[in-house]
Amino acid sequence: METKAQKFDVLILGAGPAGLACALQLAESQLNVALIEKSQFPRDKICGDALSWDVYNQLSKLSEGLEKSFLEKATALSTKGLHVIAEDDGRFFIPFRYKGAVKEMHICKRYDFDNLLYEEVKKKGNVKIIENFKAKKVEADSNGVKVMSGDEIVEGKIVLGADGAHSIVTKQLMKYKMEREHYSAGLRVYYENIEPLDEHASMEFYILDDLLPGYFWIFPLPNNTANVGLGVLSSIVTERKLNLREILQRAIDKNPLLAERFKNAKAVETIKGHGLPLGSKKREISGERFLLLGDAASLIDPLSGEGIGNAIRSGRVAGKHVMECFENNNFSASFNQAYDKEVYRLMWKELKFSRWVQMFFSRPWLMKFAIRKIGNNKLIRRLLTDSYDTKDKSQVFWSPRFLWNFIFK
Ligand SMILES: Cc1cc2nc3c(=O)[nH]c(=O)nc-3n(C[C@H](O)[C@H](O)[C@H](O)COP(=O)(O)OP(=O)(O)OC[C@H]3O[C@@H](n4cnc5c(N)ncnc54)[C@H](O)[C@@H]3O)c2cc1C
Repeated sequence: METKAQKFDVLILGAGPAGLACALQLAESQLNVALIEKSQFPRDKICGDALSWDVYNQLSKLSEGLEKSFLEKATALSTKGLHVIAEDDGRFFIPFRYKGAVKEMHICKRYDFDNLLYEEVKKKGNVKIIENFKAKKVEADSNGVKVMSGDEIVEGKIVLGADGAHSIVTKQLMKYKMEREHYSAGLRVYYENIEPLDEHASMEFYILDDLLPGYFWIFPLPNNTANVGLGVLSSIVTERKLNLREILQRAIDKNPLLAERFKNAKAVETIKGHGLPLGSKKREISGERFLLLGDAASLIDPLSGEGIGNAIRSGRVAGKHVMECFENNNFSASFNQAYDKEVYRLMWKELKFSRWVQMFFSRPWLMKFAIRKIGNNKLIRRLLTDSYDTKDKSQVFWSPRFLWNFIFK
């Protein structure tokens, strides 16, 4: 029997923050868009669930009133600061305050956050969401693109790979292989009833000796639940043959910094893992008739592990670029390089700086030294607080005041 292809102008593969943001951007166009997703919404995504101010700020750019709708509808917890705690007693707390005003960071399950964006996309007339479609094959040639799952085919003029860390667009069209020194392994497990550490509902980062330079986290969620997890470079996992599930469980059960607080706590799921493709290296992220977005383009901050903000940002840039492709009837690799240029113009400075700090902290003794230093120096803590709100963090860290205090005080 002959298979009948569904035809569109634009195919977006993957309905995470990158794909959903791109769909919202393209809702401003007359283009006929398919958003193809293997799951059915609402769906989970393994993540730390931390939404920086950057994410919050971008909601309004995506769709009018979306940030208000997030505050009203999403089951999110606003957190007022972060603790960093090392096993040798080094520790510091940084309040989320900038120029006197308290800034909030939100912890919101991706189940809720992604669903909020999905509901927004559903309102847009020119975007058809195709769920329960797990793409197995992607083809692109000078005539157009095809996304296939068994005998189901969706065709278009351009495909946007927003299919996450294990992107088939990245593998099949860009032919990239995973590089362990630019990739992290992450685990997540939701808990309830962990004893709170303080009254600020703070985010907590633990620097554990057997995980260095990776870290363990507890991020508080509403209703006395929390996102507990850890992340570490995949090259280190291989080199030291780390069993991350064991390390996570041992920390919860036996580590003196944590065990007492978990005494009456209960895991509400099994430990789950997922990869984090880091933006610590510049890559080509487009070719003839395709662009890569978000995790598929490896845009996660190598230091903080945050990828949602850059996923949304790349979705917006991709949406605008695709409109230009159609205006100029040009889908060539050379035309699409303008997309790479714009993505890295917006993100590379920060990614490069985070890579530099990540390399600096790859020496465990330096990391511990830095934590003690920050814990003992109020001015450094204040400069760090200020750095949260600046896109170009290097301005703060390379400032004479920061360096003087860090080295000599
Ligand atoms: C353990 C962990 C903790 C993290 N913590 C944070 C954090 O606290 N804050 C933060 O900002 N970032 C965090 N990140 C990173 C963040 O999760 C990602 O950067 C973000 O989800 C990237 O969005 P995306 O849209 O590119 O990809 P995704 O969110 O992965 O979305 C991809 C979508 O594509 C779909 N898909 C995949 N393959 C196919 C296919 N073949 N066919 C059809 N559909 C497909 C998936 O179902 C999914 O819906 C964390 C990541 C991990 C693993």
